[in-house]
Amino acid sequence: MAIDFEIPPDAKAIRAKVRQWVQDECHPAEKRLIEGADYKTTLAELRAKARAQGLWCPFIPQEYGGMGLGPLANALVQMELGQSHLGALSMNTQGPDDATMLTLLQHGTDFQKEKYLKPLLNGEKRICYSMTEKAAGADATGMQTRAEKQGNENYVLNGEKWFSSAASVADIAVVMAKTNPDAPRHQQFSTFIVELPNPGYRIARDIETMAVEGPLSHIMGGGHSEVKIENLVVPADNLLGGEGNGFAMGQHRLAYGRLRHGMHNVAMAQRALDLAAQHVTSRSTFGKKLSDRQGVQWMLADCAAELYQARLMLLHIAYKAEKGLDLRQENSIAKVVPGPYGAQGGGHRVAAARCAGIQPRYAAGRLVHAYPLAASGGRAGRGASLDGGPQCAEGVRARRHDGGGLRRRSDLKREREPDSCSPIWLSPR
Ligand SMILES: Cc1cc2nc3c(=O)[nH]c(=O)nc-3n(C[C@H](O)[C@H](O)[C@H](O)COP(=O)(O)OP(=O)(O)OC[C@H]3O[C@@H](n4cnc5c(N)ncnc54)[C@H](O)[C@@H]3O)c2cc1C
Repeated sequence: MAIDFEIPPDAKAIRAKVRQWVQDECHPAEKRLIEGADYKTTLAELRAKARAQGLWCPFIPQEYGGMGLGPLANALVQMELGQSHLGALSMNTQGPDDATMLTLLQHGTDFQKEKYLKPLLNGEKRICYSMTEKAAGADATGMQTRAEKQGNENYVLNGEKWFSSAASVADIAVVMAKTNPDAPRHQQFSTFIVELPNPGYRIARDIETMAVEGPLSHIMGGGHSEVKIENLVVPADNLLGGEGNGFAMGQHRLAYGRLRHGMHNVAMAQRALDLAAQHVTSRSTFGKKLSDRQGVQWMLADCAAELYQARLMLLHIAYKAEKGLDLRQENSIAKVVPGPYGAQGGGHRVAAARCAGIQPRYAAGRLVHAYPLAASGGRAGRGASLDGGPQCAEGVRARRHDGGGLRRRSDLKREREPDSCSPIWLSPR
């Protein structure tokens, strides 16, 4: 297994700069939001400042206005940004936009890049990705939404989607649909760029998840929408990447998205650990600091150990990506471990902060309450264990890539909490 632990000096420097950015700008801005500041104004000010400092679209090539970071430096940056729920947004590298920007960059025509990618890169618009359907989740080839060609000018789409993250705040949707039911299974689907709002793409509801919901979460994250697609007319110029290529493009996009989830979760868990450490070293009960209790020490030590593993795993994948090595197996494993990390680690940590952890006036509590898409106390990881493909299915894939060597290691496929992937979990709570 190739691995190099040396981080190049320029990557270290950018990590330090972003860490400072998050501490000096994003955390105070979070506080202002909680105190009632206007979200759009706060974010616009933050973005203007970030961009002026050259902190913008980390992995987007410089010729497109980004920082042009390679996979390793980007991973280090994302693992800092996740410490604030404004971090990624401040540098225009939030999901699901970031992964879809990648898709447009790689597969878009000049027309599509000019019209749709440019405003995304400028932070003027947001984009969502509509693949999953009630009939198609882990097995995306179950998609039923149809796209039929109408002359040479247009396609007409009919069907439904759900769990389209950020659809209700998006200006553009990337929608997958079946163009050729007779083609081989993975070549039946194509991807379309849809301008929103659009009468053919109707948001039926935002599906509640375990994330804390509130007005702010809806403006920032836009929820995870159920969408009715009825006679949605899409110009043929908006077909992305050619007919029949939708499935492969989707997988590529999801691969980055799930790593970024892991990176942000690791960062979020680190912040929760830091807050818990602050709390247990200052709070006393029965004449002793919490940090002097062995049980509390164990909890925090377990968290630190898990966090170390998750971080190392993501850095190794970034290293392999940097070197152009095959990382499919590791990527699948990362879905099983750091993807849902917030669920395991965050839960412990906030538990260590106890009462402070459930009171928004304390920092640990704010972490739980304020995270719009995913709160640290378990919700983040449960969401992340499904979006981008479910954990169990990735565990299977991880073993497939291994050529048999891991088949005996039953610990690879971690048992999930029963409610974390059942239909009950997915239904409104
Ligand atoms: C918070 C959130 C955000 C999301 N955002 C988006 C988005 O923006 N766009 C989008 O298109 N989709 C999105 N999704 C959908 C996500 O990709 C799907 O939920 C995921 O692929 C699982 O599909 P499913 O929910 O239909 O579960 P199912 O496919 O029905 O799976 C049910 C259970 O069976 C298990 N399972 C399935 N296949 C196997 C297998 N081969 N081996 C072992 N176990 C298996 C699964 O692990 C799971 O536990 C999001 C989901 C969530 C929770």
